[in-house]
Amino acid sequence: MRRLGKTNLRVHEIGLGGIPLQRVNGEDTRAIIRAMQERGANVIDTARGYTVSEKLIGEALRDCRDNFFIFTKSSARSYSEMSRDIKLSLDNLATDYIDLYQFHNVKNLDEYNVIMGENGAYRALLEAKERGQIGHIGLTTHKLDLLEEIIDDYPFETIQFPYNIVETQAEELFKKAAAKDIGIIVMKPLAGGAIADASLALKFILSNPDVSVAIPGMESVEQVAANLSVSGQPLTSFELAEIEKIRDTLGNDFCRRCGYCLPCAAGIDIPTCFTFEGYYTRYNLTEWAASRYDAMEKHASDCIGCRACESRCPYGLAIAEKMKKVATVFKF
Ligand code: SF4
Ligand code: SF4
Repeated sequence: MRRLGKTNLRVHEIGLGGIPLQRVNGEDTRAIIRAMQERGANVIDTARGYTVSEKLIGEALRDCRDNFFIFTKSSARSYSEMSRDIKLSLDNLATDYIDLYQFHNVKNLDEYNVIMGENGAYRALLEAKERGQIGHIGLTTHKLDLLEEIIDDYPFETIQFPYNIVETQAEELFKKAAAKDIGIIVMKPLAGGAIADASLALKFILSNPDVSVAIPGMESVEQVAANLSVSGQPLTSFELAEIEKIRDTLGNDFCRRCGYCLPCAAGIDIPTCFTFEGYYTRYNLTEWAASRYDAMEKHASDCIGCRACESRCPYGLAIAEKMKKVATVFKF
């Protein structure tokens, strides 16, 4: 268990990231949450934007709400939109109290200033906190420069940021945040699925004492069992060598499957194309990857090179160029 900064919540160091619940049903969600509970895990992170995720979690928590801390988030930036979203989250999650409500994916200082303005979303969360509907307030972002700009006067209790074997750029920022007693929630612990060895990935993250909780997305009881079995032991020299190998293979120029680039002008499921290409070229799952790629409705060769997706990618990937590579690998 770790302390989530000044929220004072005692959280298990591994929580459930709610994105993959969009791919499972109510029964699976209940089983996943039961498996979490059996292993002492007590954090579930979701978002208004994860379609059915909040609702599935709400239904699964009907008889065990008090055993979990619920974190959710909204992309609302204005007072009125955030007021609406708080109500929707409470309804979906079938609860009268959300432990942590976060501003979702804040991209720059302009967005942050809107949130903090007179008619901004922050006021809605503060009022909900006063009414006792929300326990704590946090912010999630993929932009390190934004956090660096605001961290000195950071008004919230948690940050949520990507951190994993190949994305360690926030380590200094985490130190600063921890010194200010800000809770640190780690998203993208497997680099959006690019890192295949989940146990090693989690072990690496948890070896950082500044981290409060990592939230890998999980969509099966097997994944819960595997992830929750990761102990807090130090990394062995063999594991450190494995980490270096992963860094050499992946570099920094890869898709994290966040989906912000969508929709594609040609209807291509961009992150899934990159996922199958990664499995084909990096993990030697050629037949498996080729058959799944084949079954996709649109393929990389359908890319018209408009680059509309690229300005939406928080990692600045040259998506149109990468699509050409995917088309070459799979031959269409
Ligand atoms: S550049 Fe290609 S992948 Fe990106 S939006 Fe245009 S068609 Fe889609
Ligand atoms: S291409 Fe960029 S925006 Fe799209 S899913 Fe990958 S990392 Fe996210």
